[in-house]
Amino acid sequence: SGKWARAMAIVKEFEEKCGTPVGKLRQVADAMTVEMHAGLASEGGSKLKMLISYVDNLPTGNEKGLFYALDLGGTNFRVLRVQLGGPGKHIIHQEFDEVAIPQHLMTGSSDELFDFIAAALAKFVATESEGFHPAPGRQRELGFTFSFPVRQLSISSGTLIKWTKGFNIEDAVGEDVVGELTKAMEKIGLDMRVSALVNDTIGTLAGGRYCNQDVIAGVILGTGTNAAYVERAHAIPKWHGLLPKSGEMVINMEWGNFRSSHLPLTEYDQALDDESLNPGEQIFEKIISGMYLGDIVRRVLCRMAEEAAFFGDTVPPKLRIPLILRTPDMSAMHHDKSSDLRVVGSKLKDVLEISNTSLKMRKVIVELCDIVASRGARLSAAGIFGILKKLGRDTIRDGEKQKSVIGIDGGLYEHYTEFRTCLESTLKELLGEEVAENVSIEHSNDGSGAGAALLAASHSQYL
Ligand code: ADP
Ligand code: MG
Repeated sequence: SGKWARAMAIVKEFEEKCGTPVGKLRQVADAMTVEMHAGLASEGGSKLKMLISYVDNLPTGNEKGLFYALDLGGTNFRVLRVQLGGPGKHIIHQEFDEVAIPQHLMTGSSDELFDFIAAALAKFVATESEGFHPAPGRQRELGFTFSFPVRQLSISSGTLIKWTKGFNIEDAVGEDVVGELTKAMEKIGLDMRVSALVNDTIGTLAGGRYCNQDVIAGVILGTGTNAAYVERAHAIPKWHGLLPKSGEMVINMEWGNFRSSHLPLTEYDQALDDESLNPGEQIFEKIISGMYLGDIVRRVLCRMAEEAAFFGDTVPPKLRIPLILRTPDMSAMHHDKSSDLRVVGSKLKDVLEISNTSLKMRKVIVELCDIVASRGARLSAAGIFGILKKLGRDTIRDGEKQKSVIGIDGGLYEHYTEFRTCLESTLKELLGEEVAENVSIEHSNDGSGAGAALLAASHSQYL
């Protein structure tokens, strides 16, 4: 019928606009390296902030002792306790607790958020078992993973530049987040020192390096997306401090804020951005990360319902609710292998209150999920390729087989298999067979948590 044809035309047009042929990905990667240079050259020189992390030494494997970590940066926050065994022993023991952040705290006041965090941390510290207490007079030390853009002042302090990923707590912007946390801990008598302030990408990089010395970058694909990598200190013109002994400095790219005329953006992305908490910002993140992918699918479906009566004469009301279709639901539909696509059917029913969908319709919805996920995955691969290019690791130099490993963590990468396999195959496609042999991706499991504890250890006041 005419309606079906109209619906298919909407899908077709969307698919074309989302196209990521390899030539386009190369342009995106080139634009990424150009912006990396610009962001390293001067403060504010690029949409890529290329933040100096003050991490100039990554874990070696020799770290020893009991360290805490706190991971804040998405929907949940976690507290961890890690017992490091020293040379050759690695992580002997690890415990954690995960707490959901109540929605109202994500847009409330700074005090409320940090009081909540400190209370959860205190509760967790109270469960420390007998053998693990610090020696008398010795303070507990914490690595704080705070995954929002921060202007670091030192390894253990930094001011919040802006919120992302659905957080918006105005009075915290511009404040030292370690100061805020420390104040909240002092209020309840929790004696703990924040030894390292990092974000999840740096934690992932550190956690990856702890296990494999060839790890050169950490990438997060979760609620949001970001990357950090090891840069040569002399390649950072905006750094005016002393050159670190190692000659290296970890750079937090904040690549979620990357944008380029080469990005395949659609009217749906534009609308999502306009209606977001941070319009005009985090454009790369908004087409790649878990917070948004499901909503892009919803927006296209909504258009199909409105303009082509895809779900019948009326538009299913739930389809108009922003963010109602979550990326895990989208991924469940995308991975549906049943012959009648019954997972698609039940997700439509449970999430959107749409029933009586035909197999033909369900197939179109799976295709939509594929278009959105592939675009995100292929662009993530282009970003990684951009980092490798910046480091000159996209070619084999003088026949030298230098290994490069990228540590990746985050729920999107971990659980969205189609996304993950597409990212991996696209990176190979970009690198070419020969170079691809020397580049690999490792799942840096829980890097963002354990990595922060490792960095707390390597920056301990007792060293
Ligand atoms: P955060 O990024 O908030 O620190 P995670 O790394 O755990 O947390 O990632 C959580 C995100 O991962 C969710 O917001 C969701 O978008 C995505 N995600 C979780 N489970 C799945 C899944 N099964 N399929 C696709 N995406 C998922
Ligand atoms: Mg996380």
